[in-house]
Amino acid sequence: MNDEAKGKATLAARAGGFFDAASGGVVPPIQSSTTFIRDDDYNPLVPGNVYGRDHNDQVRLAEDILCRMEEASDTLLFSSGMAAIGTLLDWLKPGQTLLMQKGTYWGTTAYARRLCERRNIRLVEADSTETETFCNTLQEEQPAIVLVEVPSNPWILMSDIRAIAASCLANGCRLAVDATAATPLLMKPLALGADIVIHSATKAINGHSDVLAGVLSCRTHQDDLWQFIKEQRHDGGAILSAQAAWLLIRGMRTLPLRLERMCSTSQAIADHLENHEKIEDVWYPGLASHEGHELAKRDMDGGYGYLMSFLVRGGRDDALRFCANLKGIHRATSLGGVESLVEHRHTLEGELTGCPENLIRLSVGIEEPEDLLNELDSALSAV
Ligand SMILES: *Cc1c(COP(=O)(O)O)cnc(C)c1O
Repeated sequence: MNDEAKGKATLAARAGGFFDAASGGVVPPIQSSTTFIRDDDYNPLVPGNVYGRDHNDQVRLAEDILCRMEEASDTLLFSSGMAAIGTLLDWLKPGQTLLMQKGTYWGTTAYARRLCERRNIRLVEADSTETETFCNTLQEEQPAIVLVEVPSNPWILMSDIRAIAASCLANGCRLAVDATAATPLLMKPLALGADIVIHSATKAINGHSDVLAGVLSCRTHQDDLWQFIKEQRHDGGAILSAQAAWLLIRGMRTLPLRLERMCSTSQAIADHLENHEKIEDVWYPGLASHEGHELAKRDMDGGYGYLMSFLVRGGRDDALRFCANLKGIHRATSLGGVESLVEHRHTLEGELTGCPENLIRLSVGIEEPEDLLNELDSALSAV
């Protein structure tokens, strides 16, 4: 892996410059062994390869590619996005405080609420888009970890990571940013001062709706939080399988190309829906009308992502009728795949997070933009 090229598309397309020295193949082999041989002196035959829960070559290669995309100090892969978040939050001790953005991904919200109650950790959920108030809360509460999501899912909110990071530094707490909807390419939370960046690689990083994976990357690996995370991944065993890592490496080869298309189509759809008579509101950071647009312009590079939410004029029934009318775009959870997906979040979240009943989350894929616009239009016209 001695590729000199700097471009992220080059890094991705060449899988970080990988070739298989044993066969000459340009694609990594899958080594699915759970255990590895020791030599006569009882040293591992291949340094670092002892047991499958510790590590494996496919996971190492995927981590190397992700680490370079993120420009991080170190990267670890987990068996899902929630396994990554669970490992991070496991650092919290009884009596400590977790300050979490209000309205983060419902899975994270549900997990954090249960963990904090069980372990006697104080959980404060606050609006992180109100930077000054949020930083005041941070100073008052003295949390051990601050957790923010950009752009958040499904509220599509932008937060000022740079300002929150400065406040975290001043108060001696760690900032973790879930940038799943931005991917490692559109935003660099670590460069803005975050300590840890989180991704559900199940989403756009893999991009083909066929792998569950999670990523944690750090700004500096000398941090004791990072040392805990490494230990916990090792001891707790939430590692990715060789087969899943292999698929992830394959999926990542086209990430920059997929994102380009997904971002430009998303912008076109958001522009179109914003002026649609059947739509009450569109939330997408690429719209000048979006509250976080200036922040997104400052902090995002190469596009505003593939995720948006919109409010169908009317109520729950109108939103569900729109979903039922769709021909082609699937009704299914998840995001970031090559195929576009819509979701009525309220059906999944219920009253847990206060999600509006007429909210539709749209994950934009790589289909022909014209087809997507036509499908959305005809489903809306029959609402
Ligand atoms: C999906 C998602 C997660 C959870 O990831 P899994 O891979 O499904 O465990 C976490 N954060 C965000 C923002 C997500 O969209």
